[in-house]
Amino acid sequence: MIVASDWAGKRYAVLGLARSGAATVSALLAGGASVVAWDSDPAKREALAPLPCRGGAGGGALPQTLRLGDAPHPNPASGRSGSQPDLNRAGRGLPDAPEGEGLRLVDLDTVDLTGFDALVVSPGVPLNTHPLAAAARAAGVPVIGDIELFAQSRHDLPPHKVVGITGTNGKSTTTALVHHILKTAGVPTLMGGNIGLPILGQEPLPEGGVYVLELSSYQIDLTQSLDCDVAVLLNITPDHLDRYDGFAGYAASKARLFAMQSAGHVAVVGTGDEASANIAQGLAGRTDDLVAIAPGVLDQSRWPALQGPHNAQNAQAAIAVVRALGVRDDAIEAGLRTYASLPHRMQHVATRNGVAFVNDSKATNPESTAPALAAFPRVHWIVGGKRKGDDLDACAAHLDHVVAAYTIGEAAPLFFDLLKDKVPAVEQSGTLEAAVAHAAAAARPGDTVLLSPACASFDQFRDYEARGDAFRAAVEALP
Ligand code: ADP
Repeated sequence: MIVASDWAGKRYAVLGLARSGAATVSALLAGGASVVAWDSDPAKREALAPLPCRGGAGGGALPQTLRLGDAPHPNPASGRSGSQPDLNRAGRGLPDAPEGEGLRLVDLDTVDLTGFDALVVSPGVPLNTHPLAAAARAAGVPVIGDIELFAQSRHDLPPHKVVGITGTNGKSTTTALVHHILKTAGVPTLMGGNIGLPILGQEPLPEGGVYVLELSSYQIDLTQSLDCDVAVLLNITPDHLDRYDGFAGYAASKARLFAMQSAGHVAVVGTGDEASANIAQGLAGRTDDLVAIAPGVLDQSRWPALQGPHNAQNAQAAIAVVRALGVRDDAIEAGLRTYASLPHRMQHVATRNGVAFVNDSKATNPESTAPALAAFPRVHWIVGGKRKGDDLDACAAHLDHVVAAYTIGEAAPLFFDLLKDKVPAVEQSGTLEAAVAHAAAAARPGDTVLLSPACASFDQFRDYEARGDAFRAAVEALP
């Protein structure tokens, strides 16, 4: 577990108890903080037990296991006496902890946040509209995420480096690639942030280790002091605009990753789009430590899992990062060669009757779908879901690769209209299963059936992974 000595004796409110929230609570408690936490989902609250609970004013650990719901206990902070179970020790045969020690589960809407050291939220909480974020701001309480807590722990960790990677598309691939190259080169490393396990729940790396963090703009918004040794911005295209004050607000959020860096630390910026190029320009004073990645031709023939122009950008960015960290070129080449693609990103799932089936469920906006269409000459394209915008313009240049389109989900009628005069055939399939069945029946040897939805999944699936799994299952169920 990663813990900061600074947390001892402080008070935190934690909203959202999914994986990273739960790891945050454990780390804060282990660091000697007191925590008030809440998730509207009772199952997530229940999952917090068993948790080690800290003892009295001296802060020594009391290795007691406390279960939610053992015995309801009047809860002073909730203002609803007896309405919430309390994880403090009273009523469980444990010594009473002083007020404010340990963990209590309380609906944060009922808590006066004045005096708390921070409100810790998961990146899923929309800061621009959530009332609790407004309440925290009004009370002068910083609203942070687990990456900020990680940043606070850094001076307690063995000497190390941090790489932060952001961008609209390609974050996970670049993060996993940097991590893989470092591992191949024998450097101790772990991935965190938007990918892999919650960062605070992991074991600290030994001296010389590199933490590689995938950072969404939401995570950057919740971070104030992460000084990345190498910070990467891949690209910025319109996405998540419901959470920002327009495109400029979204771009400004990404630019903060560089503003948090101290002098001499390295910035790697893809300059293939206007917003990112502007940010690179703004960093032009940092001549020695700015690496600009311009679109261009790169020989990717030796790197099987890094095909397509988008992966040229990802590979170039990853190369710049590991060079900045001092990895030798032969080790970099070995890493690029042996990298295996992440699931749901242009992942080949089967070949049937000479037809390839490719799962690119992670492509949740038209910009990320475009390179997938470009990668195959004759595509049966399954597209749709919960759309992020009103057009598919980013895909326009590659529609000549589309033999037929099969539209699904909420976007099905609109995408049908958008595509009907642009590709040789379109059908409104509605469901993924129907689309797979019809595409498989129409495809001929050499064709590719591609799920690259250009949309979020939430209208029909829990998340993009469930959508990709459903695609694979539908392919496997084909007669
Ligand atoms: P992220 O983590 O930013 O969502 P991923 O690496 O998971 O990005 O890739 C998501 C999808 O975006 C992939 O399926 C691919 O089609 C597309 N993609 C990947 N890298 C890039 C890039 N550099 N530029 C544009 N699209 C990309």
